[in-house]
Amino acid sequence: MTPVPVFLYHAVADDPPAWIAPFTVGPAVFAEQLDRLEAGGRTVIPLARLVEAQQGGGALPPRPAVLTFDDGFADFCRAVAPELTERGLQATLYITTGAVLTSGTGSGESLLPPADMLTWGQIRTLDDSGVEIGGHSRTHPQLDTLPRRRLSNEIDGCRRMLEDELGHEVRTYAYPHGYSDSRVRRTVRRTGWSSACAVGNAFSSPEDDPFRISRLTVRADTPIGVFQDWVGGRGARIAPFHERPRTTAWRLYRRARSRLGSPVGGPPSAPGRRHQEPGGPS
Ligand SMILES: [Zn+2]
Repeated sequence: MTPVPVFLYHAVADDPPAWIAPFTVGPAVFAEQLDRLEAGGRTVIPLARLVEAQQGGGALPPRPAVLTFDDGFADFCRAVAPELTERGLQATLYITTGAVLTSGTGSGESLLPPADMLTWGQIRTLDDSGVEIGGHSRTHPQLDTLPRRRLSNEIDGCRRMLEDELGHEVRTYAYPHGYSDSRVRRTVRRTGWSSACAVGNAFSSPEDDPFRISRLTVRADTPIGVFQDWVGGRGARIAPFHERPRTTAWRLYRRARSRLGSPVGGPPSAPGRRHQEPGGPS
C-alpha cells in the first residue's frame, strides 16, 4: 500500500493557551516542516483528491501528502494561511461551529476551553481563498458516547450551520478526539458528508476507509526526525487495519462514564493513545 501522510495540526503559535500547548506547533517549526515536505518530494494534494482515490476514481501523484487543521484556531489566519498561499499549498480546516467566535456570546457553545478562535468572517475569507472548510461537530464531544438525537445535532446540525454561513455544500467531517464507531460513521454517511477524518496516528492510503481516514498528529514535541520519517513514508502503520480490542474496551469505558454523568475528558493518559486515541483535543 502507498502510505499517504495526512498531517493533523491544531494551533500554530508561539504562545498558545496551556490546554492546547502540547498540540501546538510554533510558526518557525511549521515552516521547517513544510520545507521538509517539499525537499522530500511530497506533493500536497487536496483531501478531496485522496477521497476520490479511495472511492476508486483518480490516480494520485507519486508521493502525495495532505494537510489538515482541527478546531478553528484564529492563528490559522496569521501563521498558516500566509505560508500556504506563498507555497501554493492546499489544506482542509475543520471547524467546531460552537467554538466560532461571535460578538457578544464569545465561544461558549463548545466544550473546548477558551482560546483565540476564528470568526465566521475569517472563515468565509479563508473559504474564498481556497482553504477547504470541513465540519468538526458543534460542541466537540466524544461522539461515540452520545444518544441519537445529540449525535445527529453534532453531525447534521454542524453541516447545516457551516452551509448556511458559507452558502455552499460542505463535504468533509473530522471526528472530535478522533473517536468514532460504526453508528457514528453511519450517521455521518447518512447526513450527507462524503468523507471523515479520524486520527489513528497512522498513514492513510488509497485503500483506507474514506469515512475513517487515518491521520498523523503533529504535536509540540514531535521530533523533526519523526516528521522526516513520516515524509519518507516510514515510522507509522498504514491504514486500513483492524481496530484493536483495547480500543473497543476504552470506548465501552468512556460510554459507561458518560452515562454516569462524568464524561472522560481529552485524556493525555488514555490507553491506546498510539493508535485510535489521539490523547488530546483533535
Ligand atoms: Zn478537535
